[in-house]
Amino acid sequence: MSIHKCTKCGQYTLKETCPKCKKQAVKPAPAKFSIVHSQKYGKYRRELMKQSKEQAKE
Ligand SMILES: [Zn+2]
Repeated sequence: MSIHKCTKCGQYTLKETCPKCKKQAVKPAPAKFSIVHSQKYGKYRRELMKQSKEQAKE
């Protein structure tokens, strides 16, 4: 059993069809999202490291 999300209205449902508008509901991709998020976070961390090194020189 997994949660699906309607492509039309955004309704969450356990079925592959939206109970509200009868459109297709698909599984959201949390794994893909977390990869993107960690990459963004990694870049942010590198920027912070770079800034702190530059500040240390002065
Ligand atoms: Zn819907």
